Amino acid sequence: MATVSIRDLEIDFGTLRVLQTLNLDIAEGEFIVLLGPSGCGKSTLLNAVAGLLDVTAGQIWIGGKNVTWEEPKDRGIGMVFQSYALYPRMTVKGNLSFGLKMAKTPSEEIEKRVAKAAKILQIEPLLNRRPSELSGGQRQRVAIGRALVRDVEVFLFDEPLSNLDAKLRTELRVEIKRLHHELGSTMIYVTHDQIEALTLADRIAVMNGGVIQQLASPKEIYRRPVNRFVAGFVGSPG
Ligand code: ADP
Ligand code: MG
Repeated sequence: MATVSIRDLEIDFGTLRVLQTLNLDIAEGEFIVLLGPSGCGKSTLLNAVAGLLDVTAGQIWIGGKNVTWEEPKDRGIGMVFQSYALYPRMTVKGNLSFGLKMAKTPSEEIEKRVAKAAKILQIEPLLNRRPSELSGGQRQRVAIGRALVRDVEVFLFDEPLSNLDAKLRTELRVEIKRLHHELGSTMIYVTHDQIEALTLADRIAVMNGGVIQQLASPKEIYRRPVNRFVAGFVGSPG
């Protein structure tokens, strides 16, 4: 668990300003959803927290530490993407162990953590399969497992359910919610899906044009949108 604090963050791609002096304080164990239309800067914000791109100005703090210029691997974060990004030649177990091996974790410890994550995510029977032998939902569980084994402080999700059919989406949504209750980790979750945001979030940051338009609980956002954009976006069907 860790706090995440984004201070006066600005991100430019060339002459394009994608995030404009953005501020966001996330509490320990909080589930924050970044909600907004395609192109509004959600992934850019998440990637900045993950350390996958250089910030133009501003700072990112995780767990009370300024990590603005830290390597991704030193930030205590785990990221789950829309595309599963699993290693195709490795088994599920290999995929789960890989990061820990790279970090020179003792093999006994790796075994223990992989077993625990597999249990939590209910993928124990799949450990010896390869990604090509898994369903989309199973692959996404493995992707979550890769963050889980690393005991990360903060989980970052970028539209993790977008590639799944409606039934699996609902199922995994419940699973992610359960995971949050069980682990108590801080989670930042990007989606353009209003229902996902309303059901998962402690607080929703509604974004448009690189700006947070409203930051509030789902109830508050739904009942008292602060402007037309929020009202239109949150009120529109799926
Ligand atoms: P979202 O995740 O909300 O759909 P993104 O954060 O991916 O939006 O993108 C925000 C804006 O920044 C878009 O206009 C996109 O085209 C632009 N953008 C994103 N990544 C890059 C990049 N690496 N280089 C140039 N422009 C980018
Ligand atoms: Mg995106």
